[in-house]
Amino acid sequence: MKDIQPIAFEGIDIKQPLIIAGPCSAETEQQVLATACELHANGISIFRAGIWKPRTKPGGFEGVGVPGLEWLKKVKEETGMAVSTEVATKAHVEAALNAGIDLLWIGARTSANPFAMQEIADALAEAHADVAVLVKNPVNPDLELWIGALQRIYNAGIRRLGAIHRGFSAYGKHLYRNLPQWRIPIELRRRYPSLPIICDPSHIGGKRELVGPLSQQALDMGFDGLIIESHCDPDCALSDKNQQVTPEVLNFILNTLVYRHANATTESLSLLRQQIDRLDNELLEVLSKRMEVSRDIGQYKKEHRMPVLQAARYDSIMNSRVKIAQEMGMSGDFMRIVLSAIHEESVRQQIEVFNDRLR
Ligand code: PEP
Ligand code: MN
Repeated sequence: MKDIQPIAFEGIDIKQPLIIAGPCSAETEQQVLATACELHANGISIFRAGIWKPRTKPGGFEGVGVPGLEWLKKVKEETGMAVSTEVATKAHVEAALNAGIDLLWIGARTSANPFAMQEIADALAEAHADVAVLVKNPVNPDLELWIGALQRIYNAGIRRLGAIHRGFSAYGKHLYRNLPQWRIPIELRRRYPSLPIICDPSHIGGKRELVGPLSQQALDMGFDGLIIESHCDPDCALSDKNQQVTPEVLNFILNTLVYRHANATTESLSLLRQQIDRLDNELLEVLSKRMEVSRDIGQYKKEHRMPVLQAARYDSIMNSRVKIAQEMGMSGDFMRIVLSAIHEESVRQQIEVFNDRLR
C-alpha cells in the first residue's frame, strides 16, 4: 500500500483533523436533512448515515435500504457536504456508487470476513470506482485481518483509503462498549505511516459522556480524524441511541477539544527528547549487563546440572519488583509485561549457554 492518497473530495474544503458526523442510521428524510443541516451550519463537511444496518439479532432496525440513498443525495445537493454510508455487499457497493456517495465505510463485522471483503473489493474494481473508502477494524483484535481487509480494497484500485479504530468486542461488562486496544492502531500506523487512521469514539465508548474524552485521547495520540454519531433527537434514535449526541452537543465537544500540531516542536521539547534518548541508552546498557549476569547464572546451572527455569524465584522477582514499581508510580500491569519480557530473554540467553556444551 505504497500510494495512499489523502481523504479529499473535489470542490469540498476538508480540514484536518477529518471530522465525519451524522446519525448511526438514516431513519426518515426529515431526520437526515435536519441533522445534516445543523451539522453543516456548525462547519462539518462530511456526513455519515447508515442505511444498511448489521444487527446482532434479527428483529432490530435493519436500516431503510436503497430509499435512504435519495436522502443522502439531497444532503449533498442542499448542503454541499460529502456523504458517506456503510456497505457490506456487492449490491450495496453498486447502489451507493450509482447514487454518487463520496465515501464508503466498511463495518467491523464485515472487515472480519475475508469473503465479504473480497466481494466488496471485486465490486469496486469492476466499477473502476474512484471513491474514498474507510475500513473499520474487525470486531476481534486481529491486526493482520484488518490489514488484509485494507489490502483487498487497495488492490481493487482504491487510493483514497483509511482505517477506523472502533474498538474490539469483549465478553462481559466493561466501561467501554468496544475495548480500545490502542496499541493495535498504533502498530498499524507504524507499518503504514501514510494511511490515515480515524477514531470512532461513539462505538468505542457506547455512551454519550465518553465521546469527548475518547476524542481527546485519540487526538493526543495523533489520530487523523474522528467519526462521531450525531442525531437531531438521540433519545428517539432507532439504533445506538445511548451513544449519539445532538449536533449542538457535538459542536460543544469539538470546540473544547485541544488540537495538537504534530510538526510544532519547540526548543524545550527537543531538550526533553535528548533526555529520553540518554535514558534509553542507559536502560539498554543496564539490560545488557543484566543479560551478562544471566549468562553467568546459566553457566553455573549448567555446571551443577540445574534446570534453567526456577518458578519460585521467578514469582518472587515478579512480586517484589511489581510492588516497588507501583510505589514509584508505575502501573503493575506495565511492570509485569516488562519483567516477563526481560525474563523471557534471560531464559533464552541461559539456554544458549546450555547449548554451548553441545557444539
Ligand atoms: C456504525 O458505524 O454505525 C456501525 C455499525 O459500526 P461498527 O461496524 O463499528 O459496529
Ligand atoms: Mn452505530
